[in-house]
Amino acid sequence: MKNQVDESLYYSDCTLCPNACHVNRLSGQKGICGQSSEIRIAWSGLHRGEEPPVSGEKGSGMVFFCGCPLHCQYCQNYQISRTTSTSWLSVSTEELSCIFLELQKAGAATLNLVTGTHYIPSIINALHISHAKGFSLPVVWNSSGYETVEALRLIDNYVDLYLLDAKAIDKNVASSFCATSKYPEVLSPVLKFLKRRYKETDLDNLKGVLIRHLVFPGTIEQSKAFLHFFADNFKENFMLSLMTQFVPPKKLSPNQSFPRITDKEYEELSDLVDVLGIDGFIQERSENEILWIPDFRRDQPFPEGFADPLPYFLSLKHN
Ligand code: SF4
Repeated sequence: MKNQVDESLYYSDCTLCPNACHVNRLSGQKGICGQSSEIRIAWSGLHRGEEPPVSGEKGSGMVFFCGCPLHCQYCQNYQISRTTSTSWLSVSTEELSCIFLELQKAGAATLNLVTGTHYIPSIINALHISHAKGFSLPVVWNSSGYETVEALRLIDNYVDLYLLDAKAIDKNVASSFCATSKYPEVLSPVLKFLKRRYKETDLDNLKGVLIRHLVFPGTIEQSKAFLHFFADNFKENFMLSLMTQFVPPKKLSPNQSFPRITDKEYEELSDLVDVLGIDGFIQERSENEILWIPDFRRDQPFPEGFADPLPYFLSLKHN
C-alpha cells in the first residue's frame, strides 16, 4: 500500500542522506545539498541520451532537481548540483505531479528522476498525486549512489528501475573525485539492500538495477577492481553501464588537466567486461566530449536533437 508521507517529519531535522546535516529545511535552512524544503528543478523534458531501454523512442522523461548531497569534483551538472540560488524554478508538490503527468502525455518512455535524494518525501507525495490521476510510467531513480538505506526504503515502493552510480570502491579515488572518502562505505549497504530487493534485472520491462560506473582518468586499476567486485557480487542481479565520458568542467577545475582514457585502456576494460561475463552497456567513445556538458541556463541545455523541453515546464519557468 502506497501512502503519502509527512514531509515535515523529514525536512525539519534532515537526515535524508548520509551527510545527516540535522538542519531544519522547512525554515529555509540548507545543508550540504544546498536546498531548503522548496522543490527546485532546473529542467524537465524528453531526453534521448540515456541507455536505450530507458530512452525508448521519444526519450526519457527527465526531471533534473537542483542541489546534490555529493560535491563531485568533476560534476557535469555543476551549475545545478552546487547551486543554492533561489533563481531556479520552484514548484509545489502538485506542480511536480503535473510535470510527471505531462511527461507521460508527451510520450516519455520512463520518468527519470535525476538526483532526487534530498527531495524524497516531496517526490513520493507528487507520485502519489499523479498515480491517482492515471500516471503509469516506469519510474527510474537516477542517483549518485550516495544514499541511506532508510531513505531508499521510503522511495523503493515507487521505483521500477534504479539507475545508480557506483563511482568508486577505493577511498582515495573517492576522496579525489567525489570529495568524500566515505563514498565506498556508503555505497556498500545501498548495493546490498538493492541486491536483496532485486533478484534479477529485466531492462526490457524496466525492472531492477542498472549500475553506472564512470571511468575516472588515471584510475584504470580502480575500474578493473570495480569490475571484479561487480562480477563477484552483483552480476546475477544487476546490469552494468560502463561510462567513459569523463570531462572535467573547466569552471570547477580550471588549472587541472586530466589524462583521457586511452584506446588501449578502453579496450582492456571492454575485454574485462566480456571475460567476467557482465551484462550491460559500454559507452562508445566520442571525440566531441564537450557535448555531454549541459548548459541549464538555456531552455534547451542539451545538443540539438538530444532533447525536447517539456512545454509545461517552460510555461512554469517563464510565467
Ligand atoms: S539531504 Fe541535504 S540537508 Fe539533508 S542530510 Fe543530506 S545534505 Fe544534509
